[in-house]
Amino acid sequence: MVKSISVLGCTGSIGRQTIAVAEHTGIKVAALTANRKIDMLEEQARRLHPAFVAVYDEAAARQFKIAVADTDIRVGSGMEGIIEAATLEESDCVVTAVSGSVGLKPTLAAIDEKKRIALANKETLVCAGEIVMARAREKGAEIVPVDSEHSAVFQCLMGREKGELKKILLTGSGGPFRGKARAELEDVTPEQAVAHPNWNMGAKISVDSATMMNKGLEFIEAMHLFSVTPDDIQVVIHPQSVIHSMVELVDGTVIAQMGVPDMGLPIQLALTYPERRPSMFSRLDFTRLKDLSFEAPDFEKTPCLKLAMDCARIGGTAPCVMSAANEVAVGMFLRRRLGYNRIYDAAASAVEKVGVVKAPDLETILAADAAARTYVLENFSK
Ligand code: MG
Repeated sequence: MVKSISVLGCTGSIGRQTIAVAEHTGIKVAALTANRKIDMLEEQARRLHPAFVAVYDEAAARQFKIAVADTDIRVGSGMEGIIEAATLEESDCVVTAVSGSVGLKPTLAAIDEKKRIALANKETLVCAGEIVMARAREKGAEIVPVDSEHSAVFQCLMGREKGELKKILLTGSGGPFRGKARAELEDVTPEQAVAHPNWNMGAKISVDSATMMNKGLEFIEAMHLFSVTPDDIQVVIHPQSVIHSMVELVDGTVIAQMGVPDMGLPIQLALTYPERRPSMFSRLDFTRLKDLSFEAPDFEKTPCLKLAMDCARIGGTAPCVMSAANEVAVGMFLRRRLGYNRIYDAAASAVEKVGVVKAPDLETILAADAAARTYVLENFSK
């Protein structure tokens, strides 16, 4: 079990839940980082007394520094500040709860310091899975997934040999628009898209869940985390979100991990692993579960999922370009600058037009990420 953590993205949904788990389990919060929500950050900092706080936005960082000038909290800013939080000597674990590819550099820096990575940032593995996993193996840094599906697979594989795994069954609820055709979704608003039936999450990931790009990103992430090929992963739609994912073993046995849909559970396990501790979360009551149902994904209705699975097979910078283009497009959709169905158009078009580099190094990945963002801004802004 870890003793002290740095929480990157502490004002977001996962960040706030991580802090609640840390307080419940008696884990010290040594560093916090946020983008610019400094009112919430100040409240957290005064309650938790971290040694160091970084604010990504420079102007917000200056305001925050003044706000906490009566304390002995050190304050940093920008990417440099986030990296300092990720590599802080006092922390033995870094929770990467930032949204988007901004999580990549701090994660690599934390791996270099052999910190445990409680990985909640999808884009890190989607963009640079080979580099990140190779670096973690080289440095001996543990990567423990926080995402519920990957935590489920991680738990199903605990204590097993690599050769026992036949395939990963990655479950997804199908989101708020399950079964709806593209034509029916033309006028979807941000409010409709973020209203997920089972999970309470941040805005970006909620939109990704609606388009099922989220499941696609998870597909790519699972390949890297568990060293499997696209053919070893099957996406299964399971609307009740009770089974968080499963593994099929070589003899045909299927092992599922179940629980209430609450991100607190995988967050807590990522911090207490390999131990388990009593938790404050509600329990599954099987006498009240009406039914658990399963269906195959309909790729015509979920083109983002298909695109991500295609990019997983293409490899190289394709997943990074797709993810960065999607990130920008979702941001534009949330600001009502882009129609819902155009999110897929932007991501697919970027993959087609930006071009794919095979076996990229980190610089090439960051350049591809930037090129995809520019492409969407230039071609999809109203
Ligand atoms: Mg998930």
